[in-house]
Amino acid sequence: MILYTELNMRFEKDIVFYINDTIVEKIESCIKIASPKEANGYILGNIHEINNDGDFNYNYFSISFHCIESSIGSPVSFLLGDDQKILELSEHLMKNENLKLIAILHSHPAGTTPSSTDKHNMKYYHNSGLKKFTHLIWIIVDSQNKKMNGFIYLNNKLTQIKLIVGDY
Ligand SMILES: [Zn+2]
Repeated sequence: MILYTELNMRFEKDIVFYINDTIVEKIESCIKIASPKEANGYILGNIHEINNDGDFNYNYFSISFHCIESSIGSPVSFLLGDDQKILELSEHLMKNENLKLIAILHSHPAGTTPSSTDKHNMKYYHNSGLKKFTHLIWIIVDSQNKKMNGFIYLNNKLTQIKLIVGDY
């Protein structure tokens, strides 16, 4: 298990996102398929809430990954103003797999720091009023070294979460 915590950002240790090796392989092949464009995808799974005497922990378990073949060049432009499409697609995936949309993933040519567009999108979805998007995790992958980091919009602040990669 590897812990990615090196970005200097508000960190929430009580939110843990697990990605297994099978999903890592799918993400890597998605990056290959999308190249030279950046990759986009959805992670479906389950969220487990653990209550330790009022101290809440949230564990996100990823179960499947869906690579999105975007015709649009920009990595995040598929998201902008396209809530309906995302809702339809995630409804479809959930009905078929009985899972929740737990993360939206995209790659960057280098690094995993959220861009200003990413921050804008995270805030937008967090405040969209759609319950489905309130606790959505955003995962950014460096397309060169395949390092990943996870983020959430919490209490109106961009927050990094604990991401655990490997079999569990
Ligand atoms: Zn980005």
